[in-house]
Amino acid sequence: MTARYAASPFVWRRRATREVRIGDVGVGASNPIRIQSMTTTDTRDTAATALQASLLVAAGCEIVRVTAPSITDAENLAAIRAELLRRGVRAPLVADIHFTPNAAMEAALHVEKVRVNPGNYADKKRFEQREYGDAEYAAEVERVQERFRPLVRRLRQYGRVLRIGTNHGSLSDRILNRFGDTPLGMVESALEFLDVCEDEGFFDVVFSMKASNPQVAIYAYRLLAARLEARAPGRPSYPFHVGVTEAGDGVDGRVKSAIGIGALLEDGIGDTIRVSLTEDPVKEIPVARALAARYDARSALPLAAPAEPGAPWLADPFAHRRRETIESFGLGADHPVRVEAWLGPAPVDPEAAAAELERELAGLGEVACEGLLVDVVQASDVPRVAAFAEALAKRGILVPLTVGAPAELAEAVARVASQLVLRIDAAGQGGAALALATEWSFRVPIQELAAALDAALARSQPPQRFSVEAALPVHALRLLVALLAERGLARLPVALRHRADPFAEVETALLSAATDLGAPLCDGIGDLVSLGGFGSLARDVELAYRILQGARLRTSWTEFISCPSCGRTLFDLEETTARVKAVTSHLRGLKIAVMGCVVNGPGEMADADFGYVGSGVGKVDLYVGQERVVRNVATAAAPERLVALIRERGRWVEPG
Ligand code: SF4
Repeated sequence: MTARYAASPFVWRRRATREVRIGDVGVGASNPIRIQSMTTTDTRDTAATALQASLLVAAGCEIVRVTAPSITDAENLAAIRAELLRRGVRAPLVADIHFTPNAAMEAALHVEKVRVNPGNYADKKRFEQREYGDAEYAAEVERVQERFRPLVRRLRQYGRVLRIGTNHGSLSDRILNRFGDTPLGMVESALEFLDVCEDEGFFDVVFSMKASNPQVAIYAYRLLAARLEARAPGRPSYPFHVGVTEAGDGVDGRVKSAIGIGALLEDGIGDTIRVSLTEDPVKEIPVARALAARYDARSALPLAAPAEPGAPWLADPFAHRRRETIESFGLGADHPVRVEAWLGPAPVDPEAAAAELERELAGLGEVACEGLLVDVVQASDVPRVAAFAEALAKRGILVPLTVGAPAELAEAVARVASQLVLRIDAAGQGGAALALATEWSFRVPIQELAAALDAALARSQPPQRFSVEAALPVHALRLLVALLAERGLARLPVALRHRADPFAEVETALLSAATDLGAPLCDGIGDLVSLGGFGSLARDVELAYRILQGARLRTSWTEFISCPSCGRTLFDLEETTARVKAVTSHLRGLKIAVMGCVVNGPGEMADADFGYVGSGVGKVDLYVGQERVVRNVATAAAPERLVALIRERGRWVEPG
C-alpha cells in the first residue's frame, strides 16, 4: 500500500473531503465534526421515537438515526418526521437498513440519508465456509450490485445521502471467504458499493468501517482512506462517519470509544462521529462532543509540519505490530506494556506516604502497580526521595521507582537514586552517569524535537528509555520513534506519560487520557504507561489497565461487547447487560457479548467467546463463538444458563 491515509503522521491535518449535505447539516470539508446518535425505541411507535429524537437533539445531537427493519417501519419514518416538525425539530434523519432493500427504497422517500451495510444488503450471511471460484465470485458481485443500483438511483432522484456502513463481524460469506474477517475485507466490501454509486454519477456518499475492536476499526478506516486517495489522488474524498461499535457501557465503553474514535481523529480522519454506548443514547452526546471538541479547536490553529525523518515511524500503519525494543530495566522486549503510577511531588512525610501507598496498593485487587514515579521540584525534595525509597523497601514494596527531576537537580538525585531510574529533561543530562538508568524526556515543540535529540546525543551516551511531554503527544511520539530509528536507536523503549488536566471535567479527562495513550498503543508504540491525576493511585492504575485492555494489549477483566440497542431490541439491554456483568465480571480474559437481536447480534459480536443474544420477546439465545448452542431461554433465567454454559465449556472460575 503506497497511497497515504493522512497528509502527514507528524502533524494534525484534517483529511480533505467534499461536503455532503444531509438536509440542513453539512458534513465533511470545513464543517465541524458532526455529532450523531440513534434512537432505541420501536420505530413504529411514532410518539416515543419522536420524543427520544427530540431529547437527543436537545442534548446536541445533529443527525438522528432510526432503525428501519421492515417496510412498515420505513413507512412510519414519514410520521416520525412530521411529529418532529410539529415539535420544531429539523435535525436530519437517517434510516438504518440491514437485510431489507425494500425498506431502504421506502426510507429514501422520507429521510435525508439511508445507511446500508454492504455485508447484508443483498449478500448472503449464513456463516457458511463455502469456496467461491473467480467466475462465481464475479457473478455474485454483479448480482449484489444490480440489487443495490435501484436504491442509488432513488437516492440521487430525491437528493438523499447514502452511508456505506461496513461492520467488522457482519461481512458476507463471499467477502469472508476471499479476504477473511479483516480490514481489507471491510474495505473491499464497501468499494463494491461505491463502484455502483460512481457508475450512476452519485457522489453524496459517507463511509463507515466500524468494529468493536478499536485496532480493527483504526486500520480499516486508514486503509479505506488510502484506497480512496489512490482512486482519485489529490482530490477531496468522501467524508467518514467514525465509530467503535458495541463499545459497552461505563468507563470501559468510554475508554474503548475514545481509543478508536480519538486515534482516528488524531489522524485527521472523521467528519461525523457516533459513540455507541449501552446506555440511554442521550448520554452518548456529551462523550461525542468532548471527543470532537479537541479537533474542532485544532482546525482553527493549523501547525507547521516538522521535517519528515528519513526512517519510517511504523512498519505497517494498517496492522498492529508492537515496536520491537530491547529489554531495559524491566521494560520492552517481550514484557507486557508496564503500568506506572505518578505520585506527584516528593512526599513531605516519606513514612506516612509509604504507609498510605501500602494501603492503596493492597486495595488494587486483580491489577498490579508495576512502577512509581515521584517528581523532585526543589533541592530539599532530594533527601525526601531517599527516605521514601527506604520506607518503601522496609514495607517490601519493590516496584521500580522513577524520579523525575529538572536538569539542575539531576546530579543530586542521581547520588541518592542509585537503585532508581532517573527521568530528566533531555535539555540537561547532568546526573546521567551516576544513576542506574535514565530516561530522557523531551519538552520541546515538535518542530524542535530533532534538534533537541541531536544536541542531547552530542553531549552524552543515549539513555535507557525516552519520553516526550508535548501538547500534541500522539504526533510527537511518532516523530520521536522515527527520529530514533533514523539515528540507529530504534530498539530503545519509550514511555507514554499522561497527566490529567486538573481543570477538565472528569469525563473529559478520561477521554483525553484514553486517546493520548490509546492511539500510540494501537500503533504499537509504548513500553510503559504512566498515568496520574485521577484522584488516587488506585484510580490511576486501574484506568491505565482499562486503557491497555481497550487497546487489546493486556486483559485484566472480562471484556464485554454489548450493542447500544435500537428499535430491534426486544429487552432492556442496559439492565440485561448489568445482570450478565453481575455474574460474569470476575472471569478474567473472557469476551462476553450481550446483543439486542438475532438479526445483527450474532454477526456483530465478532470475536466474543460467549454470546447472549435477544431472540424474541422475553427470549434469549446463547452462543459459543459463532455457534448457537441454546435457544429461547426465558430472559429471567438466561444469566444463570449462561453461567452453566461457561461452566460446561470449562471456562468458569469461582468468584474470588
Ligand atoms: S445488534 Fe443491537 S444495535 Fe445492532 S441491530 Fe441488533 S439490537 Fe440493534
